[in-house]
Amino acid sequence: MSTKTKVILRSGKDDAIKRFHPWVFSGAIKKIHGPQADGSLVEVFSNRDEYLGTGLYQDASIAVRIMAFAPHKPDELNADFWQKKLAAAYHLRQATGLTENKNTNVYRLVHGEGDLLPGLIIDHYNGNLVVQAHAIGIHKYRNEIAQSLKNIYGDKLKSIYYKSKDTLPGNFSQSEEAEGFLFGNTASDIVLEYGHKFEIDFIQGQKTGFFIDQRENRQLLAQYAPGKTVLNTFCYSGGFSVYALAAGARTVESLDSSRKALELAEKNVELNFSDTGNHSVILADAVQYIRENQKVYDLIVLDPPAFAKHSNVRHNAVQGYKRLNAEAIRQISPGGILFTFSCSQVVNMSLFKSTVIAAAIQAGRQVRILHQMNQPADHPINAFHPEGEYLKGLVLYIE
Ligand code: SAH
Repeated sequence: MSTKTKVILRSGKDDAIKRFHPWVFSGAIKKIHGPQADGSLVEVFSNRDEYLGTGLYQDASIAVRIMAFAPHKPDELNADFWQKKLAAAYHLRQATGLTENKNTNVYRLVHGEGDLLPGLIIDHYNGNLVVQAHAIGIHKYRNEIAQSLKNIYGDKLKSIYYKSKDTLPGNFSQSEEAEGFLFGNTASDIVLEYGHKFEIDFIQGQKTGFFIDQRENRQLLAQYAPGKTVLNTFCYSGGFSVYALAAGARTVESLDSSRKALELAEKNVELNFSDTGNHSVILADAVQYIRENQKVYDLIVLDPPAFAKHSNVRHNAVQGYKRLNAEAIRQISPGGILFTFSCSQVVNMSLFKSTVIAAAIQAGRQVRILHQMNQPADHPINAFHPEGEYLKGLVLYIE
């Protein structure tokens, strides 16, 4: 007999788990037998006492993250468990050609649910790994995770930085253990993405240090940038700006509301180009700038942070995207291009597309869709967890 806490679901709430959806919402739970310690390993059963899976418990809206589905019933998440899961994640990146790539040494190694490891993010930066826990249960296994990563990367590994202050709830985020090196001590490094250099600050940077998910979309931008006047809004560390300049853009303006972000953007431009005369930065609120500024550009990038984190604010988010896109479309020269994105999970591609089309109607401009963009292969989507499809974007041709 297992001594683990038993989570019993309400009738009918077992369907999603049987379809390998990895979350148990608190509202789906009928009863819990046993201690309810945050981060503990629990067993999940249907209302008919059918074993469904084993997962990590937390007193929150997502109450259990399933780490093993029936018939698997691990007693504990031991070294072997982590080794197999993390090696599988590594093999997937190997399959995409990212692990041995001379021009790109930054990629996401573990993308939470997309790698059947809900609550865990790991990014790889030229031999440095940044590990981020989004669940208390994952936090408890950080040392086992670090050990497996050392086994996988061997002497190619320079450092492992654990960075969960902003992603763990309550007391856990305050604890000293929420952030720090688990191996080595490289605080920043220069990485390559499609041959472009970026300096990543693992400790001070936003998220794990870089927005890796835009890699392929930045590369696509390069096709459209030659000779263009470019406005890169929500630029963070200047990813799109560097690609545009390298492709021969006439001028590039990088805009962000964070001074620190603009410093990073300038540094990255300087890392790549000896002459930076055609690059400038704008410290401003993007929404206000786009509304008030009268200047016209050939190419605008809109890559805002998630406007909606929950479905109850989806409507406001859609209005926000519509206003922002309408103003941007007005400021694009005839024959110009808009790269527009949404990373809100609750706004899907079809809603995003209709919102951007509504914005074009409002702006009174004829637009055509040239590309529909998504997250790259190192941010895989678990087919049983459609919520994992979060990044979407459109390239529009504005008449
Ligand atoms: N495009 C970037 C990632 C963007 S992340 C890349 O390729 O790396 C979102 C950025 O938007 C952050 O740098 C944040 O500082 C900035 N931001 C958030 N709200 C903003 C606002 N209202 N106006 C301008 N920038 C904003």
